[in-house]
Amino acid sequence: MRFVGFALCLSFAVAAPTVWERVRISGDSGERVVEGQVIVEAQDGSLLVEHADQRLEVVPGAEVQSREAVPTTPEPLTPRALGDAVLRTLPAGFDQYATRHYVVCFDTSRAYAQWCAALFERLHDAFMNFWRQAGFEVAEPEHPLVVVIFADRQRYEEHAAADLGAATDRVVGYYNLLSNQVTTFDLTGSDLVGGQPSRSAGRAGLEILSSSRAAGLVATLVHEATHQMAFNGGLHRRLAAVPLWVSEGVAMYFETPDVSSDRGWRGIGGVNGPRRERFVASRRAGWFADIVRSDESFRSTDEALDAYAGAWAATAFLVQTRKAAFIGYLRTLSEKKPLVEDDADRRLEEFTTAFGVEPGALEEAIAKFVARLK
Ligand SMILES: [Zn+2]
Repeated sequence: MRFVGFALCLSFAVAAPTVWERVRISGDSGERVVEGQVIVEAQDGSLLVEHADQRLEVVPGAEVQSREAVPTTPEPLTPRALGDAVLRTLPAGFDQYATRHYVVCFDTSRAYAQWCAALFERLHDAFMNFWRQAGFEVAEPEHPLVVVIFADRQRYEEHAAADLGAATDRVVGYYNLLSNQVTTFDLTGSDLVGGQPSRSAGRAGLEILSSSRAAGLVATLVHEATHQMAFNGGLHRRLAAVPLWVSEGVAMYFETPDVSSDRGWRGIGGVNGPRRERFVASRRAGWFADIVRSDESFRSTDEALDAYAGAWAATAFLVQTRKAAFIGYLRTLSEKKPLVEDDADRRLEEFTTAFGVEPGALEEAIAKFVARLK
């Protein structure tokens, strides 16, 4: 997951019943009306609104002119109508392709879109099975999940720059919490793989997987799709205070690619080679307590890779050796309301309550666990 420029934090947010509303807004860009579900209402009147196309929008209280309930909640968008709504936000030339759980909007070959959709559908099923078997009742996402695929890396980067802000040159895909979309580009037609856009889905898979960078590319797609599933299947809630070591740890636990098959990914919880190497090389006393207490190191250029590696190691350890406690902890996190922040003490306390020990007390055991992984 990459972070969107989301600076506004509404403290003391209170949950409102989720009803469909029509909100008249007057701001710098003029007057407009939005219709959607008001998810959170802050004490200063600011609103968190979820649009029909799944976008979240924060409306500052000072800009709210009036609110009225819409008497009958509109029917959810059909996959086609959802795709049309997304297409209107994209440059000309995009088409849509729907599968059971996804709407893929693309301007690359249909074959590549199909290959990605098939990968995401496998991830969807594996995700649901994994958590249900682990004792967490994840729910089917209420709406189709949107994936946007650009044919051209440069146009993708221009689009991504608006979402990501900073340099996007090494980012082959990302999940945006506000739009709820995964965005990526055609890896087969890019300089990363060095081919032409593919003519068939099988061919697209083969072209990606014959690249020396295949493992990393597929891992990124699965990683971002896992975030999207986690935020839409009830494991986490969008804009709630889920510690990054947990949301990133879960995504990394799922991302392990399988380059021995043309489908690129087989399952969950395999040893994540690059993360393990990094973890072994970087480990220092206090690393786990740091990421439990604060997300800061994930946002620091110098420390991010170490923080990610630690999050992977801790998640793999807890899933495999403290499963019941980890599921209980995830349940606590899943109940958090959007836009309410937790401080370091609260985060530490929730961890200690769930696992019966402070994070520092597990560091030695995690190191031994990782050393034994094959
Ligand atoms: Zn991530």
